[in-house]
Amino acid sequence: MDGSIPPKTEKGTGAADAPFYLAQSDEREVFRAAADNNLPILLKGPTGCGKTRFVAHMAAQLERPLYTVACHDDLAASDLIGRYLLKGGETIWVDGPLTRAVREGAICYLDEVVEARKDVTVVLHPLTDDRRILPIDRTGEELEAAPGFMLVASYNPGYQSILKTLKPSTRQRFISVEFDFPAPDVEIRVVAAESGLPIDRVKPLVRLAGKLRDLKGQDLEEGVSTRLVVYAATLIAQGMNVDRAIRAAMIEPLTDDEDIKRGLLDLVAAVFG
Ligand code: ADP
Repeated sequence: MDGSIPPKTEKGTGAADAPFYLAQSDEREVFRAAADNNLPILLKGPTGCGKTRFVAHMAAQLERPLYTVACHDDLAASDLIGRYLLKGGETIWVDGPLTRAVREGAICYLDEVVEARKDVTVVLHPLTDDRRILPIDRTGEELEAAPGFMLVASYNPGYQSILKTLKPSTRQRFISVEFDFPAPDVEIRVVAAESGLPIDRVKPLVRLAGKLRDLKGQDLEEGVSTRLVVYAATLIAQGMNVDRAIRAAMIEPLTDDEDIKRGLLDLVAAVFG
């Protein structure tokens, strides 16, 4: 063990009952084409705009198992590949999520890949060209990806800094699809479906979200995510007072600055007043 935090991994079922996903554009067709041609794909876009849901939906549609890894700044290549563990006095090799996906022909989704340590990208390179191999230094194996293996990564260009950006040598190995918050008519349907709140009551929440997003780069670092709009609508659908729900789900998560908060509450009043 190298002592780093193990990655959060989920294994999807690949069942035909795909999680609900409403397309923003032609992203499903692009994903399918990438899957058919063994091409890795990079999803760029702000947090909470539907990238993870999209991958879960596509994996189920394609009936491929899915391994999702939420990357963080302590995530090392060994967390993805695997490690030797002591079990009952014996040392055994345990595959990491990337290795399992390579062996099984599954989709491996690296969420927020720029967060991971530098050695992770080195591991990805031979998997993202036509060799499709994963060298495992510790066991001496060189795994060839099983048919169906697909590498999907996401990142949020908004968080870019000099230290945390994808190098051209890495990003030019992926097909890229740009995501943004859904257009209002799509977002209204998404929020209504996810929360159970009637469309008419969702509409002003989505209007407010649009106004909050316009403040990105001025008062706010990031606009409000679709995820937060879903949370607000869910609280309202459960009977919470609208003002309280908006404050808890769409204002407080955006800023700690009291002056900015007051300005945001004025916006709420303008939309709902
Ligand atoms: P990201 O991975 O971009 O951070 P998620 O995929 O976790 O965002 O999306 C957050 C939530 O927003 C989802 O759980 C879902 O409720 C909702 N959502 C956003 N976009 C869509 C969409 N197009 N279809 C269905 N649900 C969506």
